[in-house]
Amino acid sequence: MSAQPLERGAARIPSVDRVLALPAVEALCASHGRTQVTATLRRRLDELRAGYVAGELDDGALAAAVAADAVAASLQAALEAANRPRLRPVFNLTGTVLHTNLGRALLPDDAARAVAAALSAPANLEFDLGTGGRGDRDDLVAPLLCELTGAEAATVVNNNAAAVLLALNALAPRKEVIVSRGELVEIGGAFRIPDVMARAGARLVEVGTTNRTHPDDYRRAITPRTALLMKVHCSNYAVTGFTRSVDVAEVAAIAHVAGLPLAVDLGSGTLVDLARWGLPAEPTVRETLAAGADLVTFSGDKLLGGPQAGLVVGRKDLIKRLKSNPLKRALRVGKLTLAALEPVLRLYRAPEFLAERLTTLRLLTRPQAVIAAQARRLAGPLAAALGADWQVVDEPMFSQIGSGALPVDTVPSHGLAVRPAAARQAGRRLARLEAALRGLPRPVIGRIADGALRLDLRCLEEGDEAGFAAQFALLEPSRP
Ligand SMILES: *Cc1c(COP(=O)(O)O)cnc(C)c1O
Repeated sequence: MSAQPLERGAARIPSVDRVLALPAVEALCASHGRTQVTATLRRRLDELRAGYVAGELDDGALAAAVAADAVAASLQAALEAANRPRLRPVFNLTGTVLHTNLGRALLPDDAARAVAAALSAPANLEFDLGTGGRGDRDDLVAPLLCELTGAEAATVVNNNAAAVLLALNALAPRKEVIVSRGELVEIGGAFRIPDVMARAGARLVEVGTTNRTHPDDYRRAITPRTALLMKVHCSNYAVTGFTRSVDVAEVAAIAHVAGLPLAVDLGSGTLVDLARWGLPAEPTVRETLAAGADLVTFSGDKLLGGPQAGLVVGRKDLIKRLKSNPLKRALRVGKLTLAALEPVLRLYRAPEFLAERLTTLRLLTRPQAVIAAQARRLAGPLAAALGADWQVVDEPMFSQIGSGALPVDTVPSHGLAVRPAAARQAGRRLARLEAALRGLPRPVIGRIADGALRLDLRCLEEGDEAGFAAQFALLEPSRP
């Protein structure tokens, strides 16, 4: 058997204590703490020992690796890699503005500052500054929500899925809830109306067919076991062709004749008419309540443009039942959410400034010409950085709003399409380029479609442009 000279090599590996005493390593201890440095160092020395024993390192390589400078440098690199934040800012160039996997809405600066302030000082979360007594955290935003939607009362939970779960559990436990078959939606991430209904302890009664539901379908389904009629916004699909659905006003009238409430899950929902900015219209919360809905649930981080939250507005007696349900305690929001939500809601008091101050709306309303000019500015530098193997062209694109808002409508945009100059292994090379962009210090997330890597610049605001372009230098031009 050929034997590596174990003892000789192992003896050359310095002791943990000796390395810890090096000045460079002392400095690492001062910033990362001795516990972490020692553990990382042990792992590194074990690796070297194992590599030597396995014959992967010869005497010379081992000597180089254990030199004081080399050990300290590898230790520093390992510590930095381990402590790099896992949640990091990225460039969203997917063309989907409210991208669920990239965190949906971006908070306006005011809201971000309010969150920071709420983080580091005590706040009157459940403390009534007027009376000195106990307060209700919902009261921080409920009056604003009522003002903006015309509702009698409001409450806030963790997200819209939680809002629907809570509403069903509070209003229809062991009772029947009537929903049109055309509205039994599945939202990404396993939110399915029939499943939520079952978990909430309510019994789903489906009426109508996939494409057509009539007023009589609702009427005939009402029995003494019915507790609620419900409508769900078709957030991420459209039923077209030979269709019939019953609008909120009609279903509300049917519910009210039977003395029952109507709940509407609006999904995204919006507080203002988006047509004002040339965007496709979505039902507003106010309209939905005015049409007769008794309870409306919607998300905080979709078109509203705020933090993740589920907002419920509607009749006072119904909101009261939601608030006294034990699930409310489990689904309630924390102070960070409320700190972010309040300034976002306040922006809606001045709709004339909304397209400038509400980040989501500002991104959605960026004119195509502005984005196109930006694409033309960036095309040359990107082409130069990528080298002759790639072709960079600025092209019109279509952005999506995302998160189930306005599923079939797109917004004209512009961006960069990057294609391999040669057809050989084009797919593999595109995938590698996509990965390289994802590997940048601030990862760039694009989309491969139709043989090109597409970077839609709708969500690259002018302030971020220089930071985006500065990273081009880190892309290695592909070798021949
Ligand atoms: C998005 C959506 C939900 C889920 O909302 P979250 O805030 O993501 O929990 C529920 N219902 C509809 C109709 C939706 O569009």
